[in-house]
Amino acid sequence: MKLYFASGNEHKKTEMEDLLEGYTLVLPKEEGYDFDPVEDGKSFIENAIIKAEALYELVKAPCIADDSGLCVECLGGSPGIHTARYGEEEFGRKLGDREKYMFLLRNMEGVENRRAEFVCAICLIIDRNRRYVIQESVGGHIVENPEGTEGFGYDPVFYNDEAGMISACLTREGKNRFSHRGKAARIIKSLLDKEFGNGKE
Ligand code: IMP
Repeated sequence: MKLYFASGNEHKKTEMEDLLEGYTLVLPKEEGYDFDPVEDGKSFIENAIIKAEALYELVKAPCIADDSGLCVECLGGSPGIHTARYGEEEFGRKLGDREKYMFLLRNMEGVENRRAEFVCAICLIIDRNRRYVIQESVGGHIVENPEGTEGFGYDPVFYNDEAGMISACLTREGKNRFSHRGKAARIIKSLLDKEFGNGKE
């Protein structure tokens, strides 16, 4: 069964497709939609709803959207909902993944409390009057030296407590098992399966 995914991020799509086995995820750009809603919500949940609603308006078919980010204790919960745009103001341009996590490490130089959480909100819209929102998280800390080549984004600097490993050193299965997105997506999958019989209907 086809499920629209309100994202432009191929890595997230791959992760989500593993998690929502039985469903074929379709990004708006793959069907020629120009999709770039303004994410001006004040929380992960608000932004997930904004993206899912904008996509539902376009496709009028079941869709999901996620909004995720990294909340670092010593930075007062930042970058939080601004994780994707971290460092843009300071550098005057969009940064690549490595530049972003190196900027984070610079901002945490000499800091002892390195506690952090990855958070993921997912909004599922089944039809105009049926929608679900889930938010999950996973705790850990920001390491001093990046490691690993798997995953994406801040994975090389995030030590996932539940996995007992740096995220970028986890296999795809390992990351899905212990990640914020994995936890949220499993709940969404159980809702989808109840509705659509494991995507086979
Ligand atoms: P958004 O959810 O597309 O707004 O972006 C959230 C940002 O948080 C991404 O661009 C990544 O940089 C970061 N992020 C979200 N989930 C993960 C993850 O599983 N690993 C590493 N970075 C992540």
